[in-house]
Amino acid sequence: MGEFEARHYVSSTNSRDIHTPVNSPGFEVIFRASGETGLPFLLHHEAEDDLLPELEEMLRRFPQANIVWCHVGRNRDPSRWKKFPTPEGVRALIARYPNLNFDILQSGNMSRFPPNSVSGGVLDAVMYYQDAGPVRLRPEWLQLFEERPERFVLGSDVNTGRWSNYDQVFDRFRNALLARLSPAAAELIAYRNAWRLMSGEAWT
Ligand SMILES: [Zn+2]
Repeated sequence: MGEFEARHYVSSTNSRDIHTPVNSPGFEVIFRASGETGLPFLLHHEAEDDLLPELEEMLRRFPQANIVWCHVGRNRDPSRWKKFPTPEGVRALIARYPNLNFDILQSGNMSRFPPNSVSGGVLDAVMYYQDAGPVRLRPEWLQLFEERPERFVLGSDVNTGRWSNYDQVFDRFRNALLARLSPAAAELIAYRNAWRLMSGEAWT
C-alpha cells in the first residue's frame, strides 16, 4: 500500500518533521485494511523509545495486518533510541509480534543524521562498521538476518530524489549483505519474502 509516515524526521530528500501517532484513527484505517485484505504496508516510524508503545499497541490490536517497519539498521538519536535499534531489540519484537516485518536500511556506512551536517550529528547506519573502508556489516546484525531471514526485505527507499543511487544501493546490498548470508537466507531477503508479502503465496 505504500510507505506511511508516523514519526518522521527531516531527511535528505524532504523536510517533513511530523508525528501522526500510530494508534491514531487514520492509521487504524490502514491497519484494518491490511488485516482485511492481507496487503502489506510500509511504516516509517522513528524508533524513539517513547514512541514504541503506540506501535506495539497496534501490532497487538491488528494481528492480521502485515506491517513492514522501514529502515531497520540505523539509529538517528542514540539519546532517545535505546531499545529498538539493536539486534537484540529487533529480535525481541520479532518474538513478540508475528505480523511485524522489516525493510533493511539503504544508506551507506558513513551516512549521517541530520543529513546535511558536515561534522555534527551522528553516524546513523549502525548495522555497518562506520569507517572509511569498504562497507562491512557488523557480525551481530549478520547473525540476526541469518537467524530470522523470513522477517526482512531489502529497502531500496527509492523516491524521486534517489533514482540515481539505485545501482549503488543494490550493489551495496549484494556485496555487504546478500553475499555474506547463506543462499537460503539471501534468497528470502532478496525476493522470496517480498513476493510472499505482496502476493500472499510462497515463491515457487
Ligand atoms: Zn521512510
